[in-house]
Amino acid sequence: MIEKTELRSLLPHELKEILKENGIEAYRAGQILSWLEKGAASFQEMTNLSKPLREKLDSIFRLDNMAEVESLVSKIDGTTKYLFTLPDGEYVESVLLSYKHGYSVCLSTQVGCKMGCRFCASTKAGFCRQLSAGEILLQMVEITRDKRRLDPEFRIGHVVLMGIGEPLDNYDNVIRFLKLANAKELFGIGYRNISLSTCGLIPQIRKLMQEELPITLSISLHASNSALRSDLMPINRRYPLWELMEVCREYTLVTGRRISFEYAVIAGVNDTSERVKELIGLLGGWMNHLNLIPVNPTKETDFQPGDRKKMEAFAKELQKGGINATIRRTLGADIEAACGQLRREKQLQ
Ligand code: SAH
Repeated sequence: MIEKTELRSLLPHELKEILKENGIEAYRAGQILSWLEKGAASFQEMTNLSKPLREKLDSIFRLDNMAEVESLVSKIDGTTKYLFTLPDGEYVESVLLSYKHGYSVCLSTQVGCKMGCRFCASTKAGFCRQLSAGEILLQMVEITRDKRRLDPEFRIGHVVLMGIGEPLDNYDNVIRFLKLANAKELFGIGYRNISLSTCGLIPQIRKLMQEELPITLSISLHASNSALRSDLMPINRRYPLWELMEVCREYTLVTGRRISFEYAVIAGVNDTSERVKELIGLLGGWMNHLNLIPVNPTKETDFQPGDRKKMEAFAKELQKGGINATIRRTLGADIEAACGQLRREKQLQ
C-alpha cells in the first residue's frame, strides 16, 4: 500500500501541486487550509467541499490529530499549559502566554530532548522522537481551537520555539514549520514575530543564516566562560563558547538581526562580579540583547535564582558595562510552565 501524504506538513504550493496531479482544482487548497486553521479534524468537517471530493481527499492524504489531555491555568498570570497526546500515544506540552501586545505560544519541537542541560526538566526523560512540521503546527491549531470556544476572535500573535526539544536538532521539520506558520492561508504569523531558541548547534546556525527568514534567534548562553558552560550544558564540549560567539557575530553580520541571549541566573554559580566581567568581554561592542531569567526550580536540581535585589544589582552592573541586559518576567511558575519546566512525562496530578 502506498503511504498517504501527511496533509498538515504540506506548504500551500505543495498541496496545490498534489491536488493538480489528482485532477482537483488548485483553489481547493485555500479552502482546505482555512479548515485546518479553524481546527477541522477530518475532511468530513469540510462542509463546503462535496462528499465525493472529501472522499477523494481522504484517499490521498493522512490527517493527523492530537488530543488535549489537560490544560492548567496559572492563578498568578493566566498562562495556560497544555498537555497533548500525539497519534502514536506520546505526549507533548505547549504553553499559551498572554501579554499586553497579544497572545504568544511556546511550542515543543521534539518529544523529549537529548541535549542534557543540567538545569532543564525537558531533557530528564531523554529523547524519544522528532516532531513533524505538522505536529509542531498542530499545537497552534489545538490551542486556537480551545480558545476560540470562548473568544471567536482569538488569534495567536507570536510564536516562540522554546518548549521541549532542541529546534535545530530537528532542522528540516522546524524550517518547514516556520514557513507553515507564516503562510497566509494558515496562521500568517510574520517571521519577525517568531523566535527560535537554541543551545548552540553551530553547523545548523550557519545554515539558518542562509535561509533568509527574518526570525529572532535566541541563544541559550547561561555561562560566561567555557568551563562553566561545559559543566552546565554538555553541548559546549562539542561546540565551545568561543566558536559559538564567533558564529553569533557572523549571524548578526549576515542577517542584520540582533541575537537575543538567554541567561538563567543561578545564585552562586553564574551571578558573581567575575561573571559580569566575562559577559562584558563576550557581548560588549556588538549588536545583541541579554535576557536574564531567574532560574526556575526543577525537582532534579537545587539551583536557585537567589534574591531579586541581587539579580537587579547583577543586571545594573552589566548595563553599566554597556550590555543591553534586562530581567525577564517569569510566567506560569505555579503550573510548571516556566522556562525549563516542561517535560515529556505525563504530568497528571
Ligand atoms: N533547546 C532549546 C530550546 C529550549 S528553550 C534551547 O536550549 O534554547 C527553553 C529555554 O529555557 C532555554 O533558553 C533553556 O536554556 C532555558 N531553561 C531551561 N531550563 C531552565 C530553568 N530551569 N530555568 C530557566 N530557564 C531554563
